[in-house]
Order: sequence, then C-alpha cells, then structure tokens
Amino acid sequence: MQSGTRRTMSEELPLEPPAIQIQGLSYSYGSGQTVLADITLSVARGERLALVGPSGAGKSTLLMHLNGLLPDRLPRDSERASVVVGGVPVRKSTVSEVRRVVGFVFQDPDDQLFCPTVREDVAFGPLNLGLSRDDVLRRISRSLDQVGLAGFENRSTLQLSTGERKRVCLAGVLACHPEVLVLDEPFANLDPRARRGLGRILREFPGAQVIATHDIEFVVELCDRVIILDGGQIRADGPVREVLSDELLIAQHGLEVPWCLRRAEG
Ligand code: ADP
Repeated sequence: MQSGTRRTMSEELPLEPPAIQIQGLSYSYGSGQTVLADITLSVARGERLALVGPSGAGKSTLLMHLNGLLPDRLPRDSERASVVVGGVPVRKSTVSEVRRVVGFVFQDPDDQLFCPTVREDVAFGPLNLGLSRDDVLRRISRSLDQVGLAGFENRSTLQLSTGERKRVCLAGVLACHPEVLVLDEPFANLDPRARRGLGRILREFPGAQVIATHDIEFVVELCDRVIILDGGQIRADGPVREVLSDELLIAQHGLEVPWCLRRAEG
C-alpha cells in the first residue's frame, strides 16, 4: 500500500498527497446493517485500482463516498472527514469542490443522462464549471472524440445503444477534466469492441482511477492493484496478479481466478 512518503537521496520528503485517502470509514443505510466496516485505504496519483467482490459487498456504497453521493452522513466542518480526495476532505461544505476533483460514472446510464441531446448532456458539467461557450464547445468535441462518438452531438440520448450511452456518460465526465475517475461496473452490458474501446480510454487517462467491476479479466489487463471487498470489509489488497492468482482466497469470496492466471490444467 502507498505510505504517502518516500526516501530521497539524502532526506525524507513528503510526497504530494495521495489522490484518495480513506481512514476508518464505516457506513450503514437506514436498516442499520453495517455495509462498510472501518475501511482504510489510499490510492496514489495515477494508480488504477480495481474493487472486486460479490454482489452486496459494499463496492457501490464505497464508491459513492468518494463523490459525496450519500449526503445523509457527510461530516460537518467541525467533524473529521473519513474521505479525502485530491487533498479535499469530503464534507457537506465541500461537495461541489469534491465533484470537480472526482468524475463519477454510474453503472446505469439512466442514472446519469438527463438531457435530450448528447451535446447538452456532455455540456452540462463544463457549463457548471463556468467555462466560456467556446471552451465548453471545445471540451464537448474533444471528449466525444476521445470516446469514439465524434459527430454524435445532435443525437438523442434516448436513441443510442447501451454502450453508446455509457460512452456519453464518460464523455460528460472527461469534459470536466477530473483528477480522479470513479467507475461503477463500466464494462457491464458492453460488447467486446466497446469493452476494448473503454479499456483504451481508461489506459490513457492519467489520473487515479477506482473501478468496481465483476470483469476480472479486464482487471488483469488494466489495473495495477486490486482490493477484494466482502461483507463491507477489505479482505485483500495488493498487486493484481498476486491477489487474483490466490485460488483459495478467490474462492472464499465467490470470485474466479482469471483465465490468464490459471495454471495449465491436465
Ligand atoms: P455492491 O456494489 O458490492 O453490490 P452495494 O454497495 O450496492 O454492494 O450494497 C451493499 C449492501 O447495502 C447490500 O446489502 C445492499 O442491499 C445494501 N444497500 C445498497 N443500497 C441501499 C440503500 N439505498 N438502502 C438500503 N440498503 C442498501
């Protein structure tokens, strides 16, 4: 795990803060059942972290804490923040600043897209940042190009395939130039070409990424590090190949060893 400091030639200097720092985060919804239990982790700048685990493990709930999406429990200014992103403590008073740092892509595009056309949807974030009309247009064009949807500006968001709708969501997020990308099941319901295209986009994104996914093969291709979350607790945290080739550990948490890490059988 990242320590936040490293030894230089002659002295120990503090590194720039990690992209994400979570300290002792616990959470339960109204029912009282503990969904996250004392989560502590940090994600370095530029690091690609996969979050895997069975359904109901708490992955989406953890991701939502990174963007202040669970407002009922956001700490006030006087309280300690369990989550810090890009150096900004996630609190009631900092939510808009946090959302400038963190771009969040929901699992279901219906939760994200709400404008009639692709152009309007992608423009929404940059307009909220107060950018000039020309800058907004430039960002729309650039981000649609990045996700392979150049020329889709006037299309209705309702008349696109799921994969295209997901890419519009990502374009809207990229157009805001976030420092950190948080993606919930980005590969679900994508065909192989769309999955490869998304993989390319994520590889090119320079900032930190946290990706909750069941697509374990893509984790091996794409990510530096993986966390297994189960029952709201971190059960393993380490380099992808090391963690995901541990057959016993993987089976304990209802996962499967990726094909490319399986030992030759027979
Ligand atoms: P995962 O993303 O790993 O599938 P979730 O974070 O969606 O897990 O859910 C973790 C647990 O929290 C599950 O038991 C789920 O039923 C519960 N849960 C999720 N959202 C809510 C909610 N809005 N209200 C009450 N319980 C919820």
